[in-house]
This record gives sequence, structure tokens and C-alpha cells, in this order.
Amino acid sequence: MLVRMRRLRLSRAGLVWIFVLALAGGAAAIFFSFAAGAEPLATPHLGWWMIAIAFVAAEVCVVHLEFRRSAHSFSLADIPFVFGLIFSSAGSLALGAVAGSAVVYASRRQPPVKLAFNCAQLWLVVSVAVIITRAIAPDTGSGPRLWLGVVAAMLASGALTILCIAGAIAISEGGMRLGTVRQMLTMDLVVTLSNTTIAVAAALVVATDARALPLLAVPALTFFALYRGYMSERQRHEKLEFLYEANRTLSRSPEVAEALEGMLARSRDAFRAEIAEVILFHRDGVPLRTTLGPGDERAVMQRVDATVAAELAAVVADAQPVVSLPMPAASGHLRAYLEERGVRHAMVAMLPGEERTIGTIMVANRFGLARSFSPDDLKLLEALANNASVALQYDRLEQAVTQLRGLQEQLHHQAYHDPLTDLPNRALFMERVRHELDLAGQQVAVLFVDVDDFKTVNDSLGHGVGDALLVSIAGRLRRCVRPEDVVARLGGDEFAVMLPGVGDPIASGRMIATRITQSLDLPVRAGENLVSVHASVGIASSVQADRDADQLIRNADVAMYQAKSKGKARFEVFESSMAEEILRRHGIKEELAKAVEREQIVLEYQPIVELDTGRVVATEALVRWQHPLRGLMPPSQFVPLAEETGLIAPIGHHVLRQACLQVRAWEDADPDGPPPRMHVNLSVAELHDPGFVDRIRTAIAEAGIRPDNLVLEITETQLLGDPATSVQRLELLRDLGVRIALDDFGTGYSSLSYLHSLPLDILKVAKPFVDGLMGGGRESRFVVMILDLARALGLEVIAEGIETAEQVEVLRELKTEFGQGYYLAPPGAASKTGLGTALAG
Ligand code: C2E
Ligand code: MG
Ligand code: MG
Repeated sequence: MLVRMRRLRLSRAGLVWIFVLALAGGAAAIFFSFAAGAEPLATPHLGWWMIAIAFVAAEVCVVHLEFRRSAHSFSLADIPFVFGLIFSSAGSLALGAVAGSAVVYASRRQPPVKLAFNCAQLWLVVSVAVIITRAIAPDTGSGPRLWLGVVAAMLASGALTILCIAGAIAISEGGMRLGTVRQMLTMDLVVTLSNTTIAVAAALVVATDARALPLLAVPALTFFALYRGYMSERQRHEKLEFLYEANRTLSRSPEVAEALEGMLARSRDAFRAEIAEVILFHRDGVPLRTTLGPGDERAVMQRVDATVAAELAAVVADAQPVVSLPMPAASGHLRAYLEERGVRHAMVAMLPGEERTIGTIMVANRFGLARSFSPDDLKLLEALANNASVALQYDRLEQAVTQLRGLQEQLHHQAYHDPLTDLPNRALFMERVRHELDLAGQQVAVLFVDVDDFKTVNDSLGHGVGDALLVSIAGRLRRCVRPEDVVARLGGDEFAVMLPGVGDPIASGRMIATRITQSLDLPVRAGENLVSVHASVGIASSVQADRDADQLIRNADVAMYQAKSKGKARFEVFESSMAEEILRRHGIKEELAKAVEREQIVLEYQPIVELDTGRVVATEALVRWQHPLRGLMPPSQFVPLAEETGLIAPIGHHVLRQACLQVRAWEDADPDGPPPRMHVNLSVAELHDPGFVDRIRTAIAEAGIRPDNLVLEITETQLLGDPATSVQRLELLRDLGVRIALDDFGTGYSSLSYLHSLPLDILKVAKPFVDGLMGGGRESRFVVMILDLARALGLEVIAEGIETAEQVEVLRELKTEFGQGYYLAPPGAASKTGLGTALAG
């Protein structure tokens, strides 16, 4: 049985040509060295042309078997081959076989390389067969040795043919599986054996009485028919097996992408193609392709240009569910797409769905010499597509689309939400604001919410607590608004709220801002801790912002800064006059960083007076920024900024040293006078700085003053952030001999009973209570209570912000010892404090 190579790969044609030439060279060498002289072994003698005719006849009755990577054509050429071995000379057999086959191949328009290969290979095989036959049966006659010799020669030549073909395929396709070669060998040996025995029997008949030959035709033809039937059955079986396997892959894999890949891998194998690709369309989404090849390239569920997908879908309409490409109709987009992917030729089938085409499957670039796919291939692909779409359609496609949607939504969510609080982020917030503003006739309020002193909490309690705090605050903010309102985290400790569709944005803004500030009245849980926090809120309306979203946010931001600088824990409504002020503020940040070294941070001193005698008993150092252009700036204009940026450390240190040096100066100026006492204000960030106590000690030592000359003022709000650390630090300071005053008492949230747990020496009653004294209402009762309590705890009391003589009078009656205020003495330069001098009572 002869097996012919059908496919060679074009790209390696050069190598194959070399192989062909080597085969031809080998054949010539063997033929002329060992075979050429061989004469016929029996009569009648057959001439080369008779062999040639017999070969042509045998090749006409050919069975093509083409599947998987092996492609064979089995023919009855074994029969003239055997006749030639017995009745012809070596020369006649070789010439007849090669000439006859060449005619057949040429008529089939085989490419030259294949024709040459087949001829060279046949010549080689014939030569080897002649040598083997003559070796086993050297004498003429038709005894059993001849039969044995012929069978052995035929089996050997069959094996040699397979090896030649395997070699050619390996060269042209870059490799071949051993299993396939083994399978080909076995099949060939079985077929060759049966063909050869029939042929030998026929030869015997011819040698004895040629008239009996027709008797043999019956079994021979029956055998051939059976064989042909077996082959096509087998081929059908392989195709079915492929469809079944492809389907099984599709329905077994849980992931649709994986299922598609499996199916594509099988298709690539089955069609011996370089590329296999499925594009899935879905109703309103982007078409997605899964591609294998060329080579190891692999793409899973990747977006495809919708026009390309549409054009591809148009190529395979219902009337023509599978087509071979390229076809003249391939349009611009599709052609560009195919060219880009290196598609030379392809077949495309549609994946039909119940209502619409769900996609296409394409198999492209067949390995080997063929330039296109056969009608059989198209049919097989169509069957595959039909099967695949059934498997894909029910739940699979939906599953794929749902998964994809889920993924897209997840990505979208991630892109537009803050991972910590899961609130919308700045991008989404802006988008929503813009959207609202686009709706005609809608007014919108935006609130900018900034957590006060968040940096302090974060620095002193750690980032974990800081994060937990932000999450809790986010929850409270959400509970302050309607479901249709948007709460977003803009970053850091900044939140924003949008109130869409409100009639009076400012009024609604105020209402929500009140709710927000009130909602933070109770301490907020942050992990294990309860932290007392406040927020400054800025309100802006779309009316003022000219319906510009960016402008609207900026306005709210500006108003928030205003609220911060007015003392935090409050809200402000945007006014156009604020903007300028804020712009200034932004520029200030950079200047502030250089203010200390430029010696622009200066101190004013405000006397603290004994109310009964009018004697100045102490002074409070109040920081100012002597700005070259803006003049003397009060702390409210830069201390919050300094706290936020961390610049408070160098500024506070500078203040402390200056204040101590001033004490030294006053002592030096009046060594016999009363010891000057200096109050210095602290920020909580300074207090929590680990090196703080040491710095105080150094400042006192450097100035050469007594520790009890120094009073450090701290506000109760600052203490609340992390009471434990604060108390511990204050205790260390007191151990040094420094005294501690609680500033602005009454404005914070600590209960009176809490006071005794703090290491304090002095209470400073906040200005609002002093102001309230005259009315005799709640505030005055409060002051009375504080005075009683302070006395019970052994604390000194200083009343702040005294502006009138009447206030001094009432305070005196209430037995308040000390006071501070513009009425008594405004803050001023060191020279003007009149320390130690008695004021007019
Ligand atoms: P404070 O410690 O309560 O200081 C008293 C504030 O009240 C001072 O304002 C003072 O000028 C003002 N004041 C005094 N008498 C009267 C009065 O009769 N009526 C009114 N309306 N106000 C009066 P100033 O200097 O603007 O300081 C504001 C705050 O800035 C201070 O409040 C203090 O908390 C903080 N501060 C001042 N200096 C420093 C400093 O060196 N470091 C830190 N961390 N904070 C400072
Ligand atoms: Mg103070
Ligand atoms: Mg105060």
C-alpha cells in the first residue's frame, strides 16, 4: 500500500526541497549500485508502459484519508507494484511506477515540490523493494521463497514510505508526534499485507494461466469496496469524535472563557490551522473575542471593534452560515482587522442563537500547502458552530455576559469609590454634581466638610484609629442626609455632600450643616476608642456658582476654610468676599514655612491682672506673624494652617524660647520686683511631640529662669483627643515645676467633674461666659459654679476677654481673683506691658 504525502508547509519549502533532493540522490545511488541489473523473476514479462498504465489505473481508484495532522491517500497501487517486482526488470518497474504516478499527480495539479517528493520517494522505495525481493528469491520461478520475498519487500517499502512522509511532514510543519507515526505504520502494514497477498495470488494465477485472472477480480474489488467503506467510516468517526470532544469541552468547563479556549484548541488541531477565534456579541455590550494562535498567542475575552464584529456577522448571514475568506466582499474594517491578525485565508461560521446571532467562529491559515479550506472543512465547521452555540447559548453566554458586567461594574465601582469608606470619590461626586446642574431649573447645594484636627488624631492615635474614625464619620454623614443626597469622600479628612433638587439651597445647606455639626457632638467610635471630633463645614449654592460644578465645589471649600479660621466646629455660607481671602491663604502656606527663619514670628504680651488690686501678675504671650505685606497677622490667620502643615512645631518652639528670654529680660531689668510669670499657648501637636518635655526643660535652662515662671496653656478640646497621653505629658511638665492652665474653659465638652482628674493649676474662663455675666442667665450661673469648683480644687481662676468696667465689678463681687481683657490691657509689645505696675482699679 502506498501512502502519499499531501501536505507540505510553504514556509519550509526550501528545507523540503533539500529533503526531496536527498531522497532522489539516495534512490539513484541505491538503484544504480544494486538494483539496476535485476531481470524479471517470472513470465510473462511486463514492459515499463504496462506498469505505468497499471499504476494510473490503480491511482484512479484512490481513497483519500485526511484527518488530524496525518493526511493519506491509500490506493491499489500495491497490486501493479507486486506485479512489477515479479514480471518486470528493475528498470521497467521504476520507470513505469514513477511515470504512471507522475501522470496522475500532474493531472491532480500537485505543486512541484510534492510531485518531486512523491516521485523520488517512489523511486527509492521501488529500488529497496527490488533489492529485498532479489535477496530472498534470487532465482527465477514462482516458489514460496518468491512469495516471501515479495511480502517482505512490500512491508519494508511500506514502512520506508511512512518514514519518508513523516520526515517531510516533520520538516514542513516543524515536528511530528511519534504516536501518529506509529499509528500510520501499523495501519499501513495491515493494509499492505492484505493487498500484497492478493497481488501475489493474482501473480501466481497470471504465471500459471492468465485466463483465470478475472476470477480474482471479484474478491479484489470486494476487498477494495470494503476497505473504502471502512476508511470513510473511520473518517466520519473521527469527525464525530472531534465534534463530541469539542462539545464536551464546552459544556464541561465551568468558565465560559476556558470552555471556548478548549474548543478553539481542538478546532485548531482538527483543521490543522494556525488561528482559531470566537467572537461573542451581546445585545448592548462590546463584542469580545477569544483567540488562539498564531503560535502561542492567546487572547481571552478581549474587546473587538463593534464595526468589525458587525461586518463579520454580516458576512455569515442566515442564508450562508459558513463562508471561506478572504472573499472580495471583505470590507475595509474587516480586511484591516484580518490583515492585522495575519489572516491569509479563513473560514467563518456563525454561531446561531434563538433570536439573534450570538457570535462567529473563525478558523484561519491552514498549515501546509493548501490555500483554502475544503467544502468538507466548511461543513465540519458549520456542524461545530451549531453544536457550540447550543452549548454556549443556554446559560453560558448569559453567564459570560453577567460575569463581564459584574467585572465592569466592580471596576467602575472601584474607579469611582473611596476604598476606605466606600463613599463616592471626588470623580464621581463631580460627575453627579455636573449631572444635577445639567438638569434645567434644578438648584443644588454643596457642603464641604473638613474634620477638625484630624491630623492630630492620626498622629497621636495612629493611622488605624484615624481610618476607623473616618469610616465612622462617613456613617454619621450618611445618616444626616436623604437617600437621594450624595455624600462623598474627597480625600484625607475632606468630605462633601450634595443636596440635589432643593428649592432654597442655602436654607437646606444650613439645615444639613447644623445636623452634621450636631451629629458630631457625641464622641465618635474609632475601633476601641471614643474620639471627640468636630468638623468645619462650608456651604455653597449653585445660584452663586453660575451652575459651574468646579466653581461650586471651590466656593464650598472657601466657605469651609472660613469656618475653620473662625474657630472650627461650625459652618459658614459662601460669600464672594471670602474667595479673595482664601486665595491669599493658599499663597500664605509657602511663606509661613520661611517665616521663622525670616524672623517674622513675633510675640505680643497681654497682661493678666489681679482684679482687686489692678496689679499685673503675669503676661500671656500671643503669637503674631509680622508679614512684610499683610502687616501684623493674628494667630487665627495662620495657627490652624501651621497645625495642619506641621509648621506649628518650629513656630511653637520659637514662641517658647522668645517668651522665656523675655522673662529673663524683665527679671534682669527689675531684679527686685515680683517674679514675672509668662503664659505660653500650646497646640496639642506640640504636647504630643515626644521631645516636647525636653525642649521645655532646655528653653528654661537656656533662659536661666525658674520653671514656675512659666505657665503652659492648653485648651480642653485639645486634651480630649487623647486624654491619657496629654495627662501623662502634663504631669511630666508639672514635675519640672511648670504650671498648667486650662484655656477657654467652658467652650469644650468636658464635664466639670472631669476637671479634678487633670493635672491643672489654673482655669481660664472663656470670654462667652464673661460676656454672659451681665445678663444674669445661664452663663452667670455657670461662672458661679466654676468659681466654687475651682476653689474646691484649689485652682486659680482667670476671667478672659474682659471689655468693660461692669464686668470687672461683677467678677470682683464673685470673688474672681484674676482677669485679662482689652479693658484691663490689650496685647502689646514687651515694653508696654507695665508688668509689675499697678493699674488703676
Ligand atoms: P487665647 O489663648 O484664648 O488668647 C486670648 C485671645 O483673646 C487673644 O487673641 C487675645 O488678643 C484675645 N483677647 C484678649 N482680651 C480680649 C478682649 O477683651 N476681647 C476680645 N474680643 N479678645 C480679647 P489672639 O492673640 O488673636 O489669639 C487667639 C488664640 O490664638 C489664642 O487664644 C490662642 O489659643 C492662640 N494662640 C495665640 N498665641 C499662640 C501661640 O503662641 N501658640 C499657639 N499654639 N496658639 C496661640
Ligand atoms: Mg491662651
Ligand atoms: Mg483663652
